[in-house]
Amino acid sequence: MLAAQEVLKRGCCWRVGIGYDIRVMTDEWIPNHPSNMVICQPQEVKWEWRVMDLIDWTVGAWDRHLIETTFHKEDADAILQIPLSRRLVPDSLFWLHNRDGVYSVKSGYRVACKILKEANSACELCKRTTETALHALWECSVAQEVWAGSMRKQQKAAGSQLDFLHLVEVLMLKLSREELELFFVQAWLIWTQRNSVVFGGVIQDPSRLVKRAGEFLDEFKQSQVQLAVTRVETRCSRWIPPLGSTFKLNFDAAIFQDIKSSGFRAVIRNNQGEVMAALSARGPSVQDSEEAEVLACRKALEFTIDSGFSNIVIEGDNSVVMAAIPSSRLIHSRLGNLYADIHCLVAGLQVHSVSSVARFSNLVAHSLARFAHCINDEIIWLEESPQPALEALYVDSN
Ligand SMILES: [Zn+2]
Repeated sequence: MLAAQEVLKRGCCWRVGIGYDIRVMTDEWIPNHPSNMVICQPQEVKWEWRVMDLIDWTVGAWDRHLIETTFHKEDADAILQIPLSRRLVPDSLFWLHNRDGVYSVKSGYRVACKILKEANSACELCKRTTETALHALWECSVAQEVWAGSMRKQQKAAGSQLDFLHLVEVLMLKLSREELELFFVQAWLIWTQRNSVVFGGVIQDPSRLVKRAGEFLDEFKQSQVQLAVTRVETRCSRWIPPLGSTFKLNFDAAIFQDIKSSGFRAVIRNNQGEVMAALSARGPSVQDSEEAEVLACRKALEFTIDSGFSNIVIEGDNSVVMAAIPSSRLIHSRLGNLYADIHCLVAGLQVHSVSSVARFSNLVAHSLARFAHCINDEIIWLEESPQPALEALYVDSN
């Protein structure tokens, strides 16, 4: 039971709502940050400081000035990147290791492996030396026997390395593409075996792992051929105007790694394909494409309501986000509060359908999303075609 508690504690993180329950310095509340906590102690720490003290409640956003002047830059950047809800919602815990934020035995097991590894760092297979990634995957006598069966030549050519990354660099220069693919699959199987042995499994005959690597690679290549066919089919779909008096909202997001920000675009068109309203806005720095798409969706719905449209169909090109909009199911992930914001906005609209479309039929929103790279805040077009999307609008109308 105590062990399970440790796993839960290590695997959970606070999701910031109003921030009342979260202690700034001692709780784990910063996702995608080492140990999910503030790393550098600020010079002045207020007693029992809560996360709510870092939010500017007049605008419902992080108090950027306070955060940037109080914390070390790394911590400040990570805090400012946490998306806040538009509503006053309670703080809650979510499970970090699953996409949907819900605990599962499989992901719990992975966290347990990590904790065990930290506690006990000797190699479990040969019991001869400290386990590093390079040792477990390459130098360990158990791994070496597998490599001898699959790439004896490369094994000899590799020489001695500092770490696993260095080994990969050396092999990338020496191996062909096919050999490299086999190398990675084989390394993955060696790692899987290592995990199984740590939890009481037995070491398999090296020839079995060599054979399995070859089979796995073949299966993977075959599935790629099948996937390539479906991709061609979806690309053919194109934008279709809404029916009668409904309007169609298309939205999209883009991530700009170079300027550490994102872009949101929305376009509302009538049954003639004419643009009623369009928006191109710069968004914050995000952790992944799902976060960018969820923020874009919330922005697009707010824009729809602000411009006075209520009778709409919604199209976006991220299937995860689109599937979550019509369901009223609570989402427990890091982004759960943003999904709940979206559900509240949708409740105030007459939404006829929500669909996930291929990027090709979401071309106007997509080109407006790229355009946000050049602007600082946001640009709105009302009853005129946005210049940056003219070409995409032309494609849709033909
Ligand atoms: Zn070993």
